Amino acid sequence: MIESPLLAELGGYIAGEWVDADTGDTFDVINPADGDCLARVPGMGEGQVARAVEAAHDAYGRSVSAEERCRWLSEIAAALAAHTTELARIITLEHGKPLREGAAEVEYSAGFFSFFAENLHRLEAEVLAGRPHGLQWKVHHRPAGVAALITPWNFPLAMLAKKLAAALAAGCGIVTKPASQTPLTCIALYGLMHRIGVPAGRVNLVLGKAGPIGKVFCTHPAVRLISFTGSTDVGKVLASQAAPHLKRMALELGGNAPFIVFDDAPIETAVDALIANKFRAGGQTCVCTNRVYVHERIAEPFAAAVVDRTRRLEVGDGMLPGTDIGPLIDRNGFDKVAEHVSDAMRRGAVRLAGDDPPRPACDWGAFYPPTVLVGVTPEMLVCREETFGPVVAIAAFAGEAEAIEQANATPYGLAAYLFTRDPVRAERLVRRLRFGHVGLNTGSGPTPEAPFGGMKASGYGREGGIEGLLEFCETQVVAGS
Ligand code: ADP
Repeated sequence: MIESPLLAELGGYIAGEWVDADTGDTFDVINPADGDCLARVPGMGEGQVARAVEAAHDAYGRSVSAEERCRWLSEIAAALAAHTTELARIITLEHGKPLREGAAEVEYSAGFFSFFAENLHRLEAEVLAGRPHGLQWKVHHRPAGVAALITPWNFPLAMLAKKLAAALAAGCGIVTKPASQTPLTCIALYGLMHRIGVPAGRVNLVLGKAGPIGKVFCTHPAVRLISFTGSTDVGKVLASQAAPHLKRMALELGGNAPFIVFDDAPIETAVDALIANKFRAGGQTCVCTNRVYVHERIAEPFAAAVVDRTRRLEVGDGMLPGTDIGPLIDRNGFDKVAEHVSDAMRRGAVRLAGDDPPRPACDWGAFYPPTVLVGVTPEMLVCREETFGPVVAIAAFAGEAEAIEQANATPYGLAAYLFTRDPVRAERLVRRLRFGHVGLNTGSGPTPEAPFGGMKASGYGREGGIEGLLEFCETQVVAGS
């Protein structure tokens, strides 16, 4: 069991109170590294979720000044910074990622609260230039209403911070449902907001089975907006459930990121970027490189450098100091990675690093060795689907047209990476990449200051930047004399 000063309460949070499930139902949170039961938390039903929505609706009805919202945001950012070590420990225990990545996640998350605190003035009403029809036209950004936030397990804090910071800044009432694998970091954040004095009902937390909770979010009349990060399949389910109720949605869904390296690229920079980008969170991020396309003239030395770096990575419990890659989240994750690798090898790919690990007997201990495959082709699963694991899949290309065609040959459009020293080529290719985020000579993912989100099957809506703030607002125009 986890002992933490940030987890004195282990419940849901409705109308400013910590609550158990009405039914007494609970579920266990398991450390994916060693199977330890970290905590038993309530599993709530539809009635309780509806109460949380109603509490959020009441709070949303009580308007709150920009100064007050700014204070919450700044104090949350400060509290995250002050508790980085403990929050990182909770993240690592429930997710499995190395402790230093947990700490980086806390810092990144705090950045969203700071950014929106510093940019709240961007929501001030604006009077339009000129006087169309002889009237004054004033544009307001009103809070959208109750925002329901659904988050995944791969960044237990950051995926929530992006949504929550923007929703608080906008003045929404909020109900959060974190992933059941990793609710503890979210509970800890709610504990910090409770201490800071975010008023009762403004932020609510529900825990439990996703289906019934999602149904309440999609159908309850008080919910105006659903912000979801997760798989494309679940995103489609939510979009169709919410469609008859005309709720607004922001969907950050799956990716299948290409990483394109031209023969004029700085190879060492590209290899460094690939290793950092690919193996973050054990390859379980939506912006992780999934397919590597390398110009045929440099394909061999590039692969050799990647293999050399990959073989040096340490796999183990994220709590141990030397660990670079923790366990996969569970056995399903393991099975998917193993299937992708065996499918690729059956179809002719060659494995230059990694081997076949034993299948875990249960839902924890899914350690998968970092793997490098070359000779990857488009029909292989590693190219068609998001692997979500520590596998580098490399294919060689002959020219620009082929590289761009392969990169775009996916229904997804979240992140892409391009390495070339030629700025004219970069400009030409970036324009044609159908991805919402492009790293040019960098493997860097999103930042709080910039809008991030997908094209095509990777969803719609943006998080971060002013665009991410406006997702939680409704525009109201007042025309007057
Ligand atoms: P992942 O593959 O990352 O687990 P999911 O899309 O399955 O992605 O889950 C992302 C989040 O969506 C989690 O919080 C999960 O509990 C939730 N979720 C899963 N299915 C549903 C659903 N039918 N309705 C609402 N939320 C769901």
